[in-house]
Amino acid sequence: RGGQAEREVPFAQPNSLTRVYCVASGKGGVGKSSVTVNLAAAMAADGLNVGVVDADIYGHSVPRMLGAEGRPTQVEDMIMPPSAHGVKVISIGMFTPGNAPVVWRGPMLHRALQQFLADVYWGDLDVLLLDLPPGTGDIAISVAQLIPNAEILVVTTPQQAAAEVAERAGSIAVQTHQKIVGVVENMSGLPCPHCDEMVDVFGTGGGQRVAEGLSRTTGTNVPVLGAIPIDVRLREGGDEGKPVVLTDPDSPAGAAIRSVAGKL
Ligand code: ADP
Repeated sequence: RGGQAEREVPFAQPNSLTRVYCVASGKGGVGKSSVTVNLAAAMAADGLNVGVVDADIYGHSVPRMLGAEGRPTQVEDMIMPPSAHGVKVISIGMFTPGNAPVVWRGPMLHRALQQFLADVYWGDLDVLLLDLPPGTGDIAISVAQLIPNAEILVVTTPQQAAAEVAERAGSIAVQTHQKIVGVVENMSGLPCPHCDEMVDVFGTGGGQRVAEGLSRTTGTNVPVLGAIPIDVRLREGGDEGKPVVLTDPDSPAGAAIRSVAGKL
């Protein structure tokens, strides 16, 4: 939109009815994108209008995990996002030619995010989920500027160096006056396929520790919204573009994520 005034971000309007959640994590590989995609699919299956912005500049794995293989198209001066399983999705990966690695600097990322929010035709969304890059960087501040009422959902493993992550995420939230809606603990043990015992592959208690740390730093009550076990079906669903909440909603991971979706 060279030269033109920036369009307003509809979700930033005070009368917007769209709930916006930023899914954040302290580091990569904790399942942030898997949780985002499954929450989105679960909410869409419940009849909500759902959109996902994949702003994870390092991973941008949301379209594949959701099975949204289509390309965005342009109608007049709006971008029409592809969709899958009733979820509209736009990804930073759709705009990097040949998926070439791009060094995204803060201002560029801010601009891309502004366009994803304002120039994409989302329609009337009930919920918009943003998959943020891991860590607490510029993008969290950008999101807060672009959508002040966006809330933050933190994904962690049971293992994570809780205090550190909590403190950083918490102090940014305090700075930006954003609400942390809760913590989701992922990879919370592996149900043994041979007996009923739970194998705590990544230890225990990370979700609780992060929630307590965030409660302390923000001075609010940040709850643990759920614990998602390690589940082969979740990983397979991600690889195949068929979210486990749809293919196997009553599997341990599927049920756990649907329960979290019900609390948002
Ligand atoms: P992040 O977005 O935090 O980098 P991903 O969602 O890409 O993490 O997950 C990293 C890998 O772990 C993926 O291959 C994903 O399928 C797998 N994974 C995530 N959560 C689970 C889980 N609960 N059970 C099994 N595999 C999982």
